[in-house]
Amino acid sequence: MELRNVLVVDPVDGEYVANVRVSGRKIESVEMSQGSPSGLLIPGFVDVHTHGAAGVNSMSMEAGDLEKWERFLYAHGVTFFIPTTVSAGTDEMLRATGIVSDYIKDRPATSVRGIHYEGPYINTRKKGAQNPETIRPSTLNELHGVITDDVMIVTMAPEVEGFFEALEFLKKRDIVVSMGHTDSSFSLIKHAFEAGCDRMTHYPNGMNTLHHREIGCVGAGMILPLKLEMIVDGVHSAPEFINLVYRVKGADSIILVTDSIDATGLSEGLYDLGGLSVTVRGSKATLDDGTIAGSTLVFDDGVRNFRKWTGCSLSELAKVSSYNSLIDLGVRNRGRVKEGYIADLVIMDSEMHVRETILSGKSVFKN
Ligand code: FE
Repeated sequence: MELRNVLVVDPVDGEYVANVRVSGRKIESVEMSQGSPSGLLIPGFVDVHTHGAAGVNSMSMEAGDLEKWERFLYAHGVTFFIPTTVSAGTDEMLRATGIVSDYIKDRPATSVRGIHYEGPYINTRKKGAQNPETIRPSTLNELHGVITDDVMIVTMAPEVEGFFEALEFLKKRDIVVSMGHTDSSFSLIKHAFEAGCDRMTHYPNGMNTLHHREIGCVGAGMILPLKLEMIVDGVHSAPEFINLVYRVKGADSIILVTDSIDATGLSEGLYDLGGLSVTVRGSKATLDDGTIAGSTLVFDDGVRNFRKWTGCSLSELAKVSSYNSLIDLGVRNRGRVKEGYIADLVIMDSEMHVRETILSGKSVFKN
């Protein structure tokens, strides 16, 4: 496959016009060229926090559903995603993980890359749309049972019993621990950071906010070198807040996620999120009491929103939409438009709409 005269957008080398040759699964060469580009070539998007889409729900999916889910995401430029659970019993956690693991094992190329446990080791005071009956402290015994090779991220609250033992246990296994659904003080977040936890889940949602005498979780996210997941849909945070975080933290610390639920891509109505009923109206998904319950955001909308609200460069956009996530997970062979990297790529038009998605060197979506 050869992509001629495309505007290459690389998170490290920046933007330039080039001919890109793909051979097998990899990018074989990237050679600068002259002339006006016919489209924009950016690394495939990475969504490390998504509960579902197109009617598929991570907690209730069956074996064949992941294919439907990944196909839906190809149309939005996603070439790497991590199905995310909600707080649940160990059997349900293992059920979801088992389906993901079997799916990955059976396929030579897939955008499904592992699993993210969002909870249950979180704070009920900041539960958001998580079912409080299943929220509990972590124990090493339980972790031994639920942590498999495909678990990539665990979202936990530092103030919940067992956090620091779990952090040590998970870090040893190269699993990323992310602070979320937390009511921690600034000093406890700082303590967790010093113990090796350098990331926050869907910042600033599901955590206490900033007060000038106790800057709390939101202040900690701003001032400590933490990487921050953000849902850039205009519902979870105001556009101005996204811009504020971009200005304070820079593009290197921001990780775009959707936090999407099964209703994403479907019509308005009533849906189920981990046993709780969720109403979707417009771009808002809420519980009966009005609590925001995940999103119906598609990844490429988040990318366009981020660009519009921050005025960032295209290469910064490549950082927040894939590169930062991959570096955080320790993935070194994806996320760049560069010789030798896996060819997970998106071709976009000048308005940043997805024209084609390429997974492991093969076209999987064309518009
Ligand atoms: Fe959450």
